[in-house]
Parts: sequence; structure tokens; C-alpha cells
Amino acid sequence: MLKKIFNQLLHLSEEYLALLSEENCRLCRQEIIKPVLKDDSFKGNTSLAFVNLNLDNAYFKNYFKASQTICNYCLAKAYPDKVFLTTYDLIDDHVLTVLSATQYKGHAKWLIYQLKYLKDSLIAIDLAVFLLKAWLGLKPIISNEIRLDNYLIVPVPLHPKRLKERGYNQASKLGQNLSRLTNIPFNSKAIIKIKPTKSQQGLSREDRLINLNGAFIGKKEIVKDKTILLIDDVITTGSTLKACSQALYIAGAKSVYGLTLAISLKYK
Ligand SMILES: [Zn+2]
Repeated sequence: MLKKIFNQLLHLSEEYLALLSEENCRLCRQEIIKPVLKDDSFKGNTSLAFVNLNLDNAYFKNYFKASQTICNYCLAKAYPDKVFLTTYDLIDDHVLTVLSATQYKGHAKWLIYQLKYLKDSLIAIDLAVFLLKAWLGLKPIISNEIRLDNYLIVPVPLHPKRLKERGYNQASKLGQNLSRLTNIPFNSKAIIKIKPTKSQQGLSREDRLINLNGAFIGKKEIVKDKTILLIDDVITTGSTLKACSQALYIAGAKSVYGLTLAISLKYK
């Protein structure tokens, strides 16, 4: 409970920092003069797919006032218009279905780069709305009646050494913000990475799988009988999400689905 309050406070302070500081749009670099999607300027803008979202969510109302890292103009251009679905076979006849909000190119690629390598964690607040699009795409596939208390948002973990170098896990930032938008609980300790692995970039599909062999362990006490929404920034060959899903099933998860911000179609 205390931890939850602390997390909320931490998040609020991030939002207020964003409100107080003069933020520039991460795409066009123009100063963001007024908060994105605040007040009546949003109402007439039907080009934004946001109209389909659940605006009754109290957090969401605040979200619109706090969203600061992408200007209204760029947001309308960058907001995904369709989602991508991929499926992967796992051991024991399990299938992993992954929904991705957009392609890993252009605006999305640049925003993810800033979140991941330029330590711009505020972007995760805005990018979580993109991720929400992937969740809304997955919902009808899962079931018509979803009991969210049985769901858990889990980020793909970084090895502790990498986490220390980077300062934060970008998948965790995205997962936390998605949790606030959906009210689905979040737990960053559900999978741990026990083996440091080489960067997957530049490796073939086969080498990626070998590289990740035995790298992840699921925590039984956290994931048992839960439906897991596994979060990552980008999916390329699916090797990382597959390895994490296997670990979660071994630990007793009921089902596992993947949600990623972007999909790289290079290997497809
Ligand atoms: Zn802009």
C-alpha cells in the first residue's frame, strides 16, 4: 500500500515537473505552449483516434492535462492508426499473441530512441497512450468479459547490471504508465533476468534464441494463475518475448499476451 502511494507521488511529481518546466516537443522541437489535448481545442479534433478511449477514467482526465512531450500537431501525425498482430508457438502447445501499436520506424523509432538511450523518461507517459491502443486491440481477442483483477502488467526485465548503466528500464516505465491508464496492476519483479546477454541487435533469429537460453526466471508467487500482459518497447524476431513467456508459463501463469509499442518488420 505504501509502495503504491509512493509510486503515485513519484509519478505525480514527474507530471508536475513536466507542467512547470517549459517542455519542447520531442519530434518538432517547438515549445509546447499549452498542454496537449487540454480543454476545448481537443473536442473538434476528430482526426485523433483518442475519441475511442475511455474518458471516464479519472486518471485519463488528468493525463490529458499533463501530457507534455509531444505537441498536439505531432501527436496527431504520430498516433498509430492500426495495430499489428503476431503469434508465436511456444513449448507445450502454448501460443503467444502479441499486439504492437505501430511500426518501428519514423516518429515512433525516434521517440523510443529518446526514451531508451537519451534518458528522457517523461516520454513514457505519452507513449503509454500508444501502448493503450495495442491493449484495446487485444481486448476483444482475449474475451468479452475481462476480470482485470486477475491480470498483471509485467515488463520485460533488464539484467541488473544493464539497469544500473541505463538508470531505468524503459519497458517498466511504459508498463507503469499503462497500468495507470487501465487500472491493471503492475509488477516489475515477476520475471528476473539471471543471465547477462549480448545485445540482440545484429544477431540472427537463431543466435537470438541461443543468446537468451535460460536467461529469464518467472516468480511463481507473483504470476501463478494470472493472465500476464508482457510489455516491451520493440518486438523484432520475438525471441525475447518468447523466452519471457516460457519462463512465465513454467512459473504457473494462466496465460501470457505481449503488448509492444512498436514492431520491427525487418525479420518478418
Ligand atoms: Zn511537435
